[in-house]
Amino acid sequence: MQVEISRRKFLQGSVALSIVGRSSATVTSMFAEDKEPSHSTVKIATLCEMCVNKCAAWASVENGVLKKLDPNPLFPKSKNMLCARGDAGIHALYDPDRLKYPLIRVGKKGEGKFRRATWDEAYSAILNGTENFKGLKQIIDEEKDNRSTISYCAGEGMGEHTFTQFMGDLLGSTNFVNHSSICLKTTIKGYGLTLGAYGKADMENAKYVIMAGANRAEAILTPDTMDMFKRTRGRGLKLIVVDPRYTNTAVHADKWLGIKVGTDLAFVLALTYVVLKEVLYNKAFVHKNMNGFERYKKHILENQYTPEWAEKITGIDADTIKTIARDFMAHAPRAIYYQGRRTAWSKQDFQLRRAQAIFSALGGGIDVKGGIVFGKKLPLGKHTVEVPIYANIQRRADKKEATFVGTSGTWIGFRNMIIEGRSPYPVRSMFCYKQNPMQSVPNIAKTRKMFEQMDLVVTIDTMPSDTVMMSDVVLPECTYLEREDPVKSFAGVQPAIVLRNKVINPLYETKPVIAILKGLSEKISKPLFEVSMKHDASLKEAVEDDGFDETYEDGNFNLALAYEHTQEEINKELIEEEYGEKAYKTLKEKGVFYPEMDSYFKKISENEYIYYPEDKKYYTTPGGEDKLNAEDTCIDEREIASLKKNLGTHSGKVECYLPVMEKNGIDPMPTWKDEQYTPTPKNKFKFITGRHAQQTQNSTANNIMLLDVMKENYLWINKKQAEERGIKYGDIVEVKSSVGKVYIKAYPTIKIVPDVVFYVHGFGSESSGLTFGYRNGASDNMIIEDTIEPVFGSAAMHETIVDIKKVG
Ligand code: SF4
Repeated sequence: MQVEISRRKFLQGSVALSIVGRSSATVTSMFAEDKEPSHSTVKIATLCEMCVNKCAAWASVENGVLKKLDPNPLFPKSKNMLCARGDAGIHALYDPDRLKYPLIRVGKKGEGKFRRATWDEAYSAILNGTENFKGLKQIIDEEKDNRSTISYCAGEGMGEHTFTQFMGDLLGSTNFVNHSSICLKTTIKGYGLTLGAYGKADMENAKYVIMAGANRAEAILTPDTMDMFKRTRGRGLKLIVVDPRYTNTAVHADKWLGIKVGTDLAFVLALTYVVLKEVLYNKAFVHKNMNGFERYKKHILENQYTPEWAEKITGIDADTIKTIARDFMAHAPRAIYYQGRRTAWSKQDFQLRRAQAIFSALGGGIDVKGGIVFGKKLPLGKHTVEVPIYANIQRRADKKEATFVGTSGTWIGFRNMIIEGRSPYPVRSMFCYKQNPMQSVPNIAKTRKMFEQMDLVVTIDTMPSDTVMMSDVVLPECTYLEREDPVKSFAGVQPAIVLRNKVINPLYETKPVIAILKGLSEKISKPLFEVSMKHDASLKEAVEDDGFDETYEDGNFNLALAYEHTQEEINKELIEEEYGEKAYKTLKEKGVFYPEMDSYFKKISENEYIYYPEDKKYYTTPGGEDKLNAEDTCIDEREIASLKKNLGTHSGKVECYLPVMEKNGIDPMPTWKDEQYTPTPKNKFKFITGRHAQQTQNSTANNIMLLDVMKENYLWINKKQAEERGIKYGDIVEVKSSVGKVYIKAYPTIKIVPDVVFYVHGFGSESSGLTFGYRNGASDNMIIEDTIEPVFGSAAMHETIVDIKKVG
């Protein structure tokens, strides 16, 4: 059979694209753009965007003004809770420092001098440049239509996909970097390659949890965090916290182990040694579900990863390690070595996460109640648009910056490659969306250099961040409370679909990201198509044969066509296709939908709810060989855990040994490397950083409601070592590394192990556009060195050695 492919078809591709358009008045008047409710309070279902959890909320709107955000109890993930950051979302909307209209740079880059512009002027500046910077047309032409010369970055959020699909599929760039390599990439990859997916720790039913470095009480105060703490300290869940700091999470734990920074891998290997040596593992589970187990066992035992060996490295005594290993297995399979969130710590992070995953699996706590579960994801319908194909796009530029770079890139590697001239082709521009690399990537001086070097920097944001200050064109996005976002399906034991409705109309001249991209597409599509024609012989021929307009439209080079439908229309289509009209109506009105919600959802006390009956929960992912009945008390838990799984790994089993790593010169099994451990020289300190429950990275640096709770950050320093240096509470100290220095107030405390200092991330902005955030406290990335974890190119943020000096 012969398949004929026309040139026109060759020029086309097709991908699913989520797009957001202007809100329409299709459902109820409360959502109508042109029928703002007056003289009454209405409650609109929305979703918080102040962190990754996306808790469901009710917004009370009075005469077009958002008065209050309350929790919406219908969403199983967020139950009936909004944290302090969620409440403070109201300030994200009404912050007087917000970006209000498009800006075009007129001063020197980084100087913060801009002129107010119309949207059309801003789009023109992006396309054609100004006397101060070059535009897309010139850059892409000079790079012979290699669209990868335009890089892009994005932070986590419900609009991220909309932006990345525009930059990647429509504009044609391959050079994307996101927060992953400065956050959770090593744990996603470590668990993904070992268990098939990162999974979710079933804290509600676990009986034993080891939580290392993950500070749930301070970093992400979600309902499951609170529920977990209700069960610790003799109430059903034994919690072991391993952390160089005695954190607020440690306060709720049954035991705190003050580990030396960067030695967690040695700790897990020693736990594994005890379990293997004493044959404490779940033999049935191991036999059926672990690939390469015998090899791993030999590796651990022969390398003598004994508790005594680990004691010298970690500072945790051997007997404690033995006790924890035995306790863990005694509680398995309801025993979890918690996966962790921001795992950008050390050069050995990837192997650490692999070792944790394998350790949990030894107890059988995978895909089972009380263990690491994968749950179910409710399907959504599809919405597709056609995309163009560009002939001269290059592969991503940072391929050689780590062994496996992947599609989310390596932030440090990417930036350093550019400023150190290692890029295989010039990367001359960056579009930033909802990310502030100037504050979030280690070694700020180098990030500044990268932006200075670029011909065009465009930032889409709501606030005048430090990255906005380094931009040529600034496009003001409306906040999450002023737009409808793509509908989202959350996988889990109790899966649900959620929708963020628009609460009020966009303030000032701001727009949702999709409207911004639509306007930009209308401006740039044709001129950039002309550039493509110059450098693509096939395209030129198509134009000669079929005509300019036909090739332009049929080849999908008119990027604005991707935005023919509004977000409301698309959301409606995605839901109705799968679940019908009634489901969409429910979702629109209540913000949450899952099949049988009407009969399943029950309020059982003032603040307790049932979402799914126990026998309908997805503790085991459907599709495995054995569908478990979690309620069947006749089945012994260890037997449940021993049933054969069908994991998403290469072999379908837990992978103890990874040949793909071996082929690439990486240890196929978790292995401790002395040479990858950074010792702390005498009289110096290792610096660590962390998150705070009242701040979301640096995006809340200016949020006065949250600053009211925590005004600035302090340097945690061991009390004895502070005394030796004459440092008292509130003294100003200089913290100096090889890449920078900061001045910060001291907090001497016994709650941190010696030779380690800490301060929380999210402070020390340098943008003068932030009334409250400007130079408030100290920025961690000003002093964190740009060390890379070599396997996936993640940042290794806990490898920096600093000097501490009292200065005031
Ligand atoms: S945990 Fe807090 S900040 Fe995060 S989504 Fe929920 S309410 Fe918002």
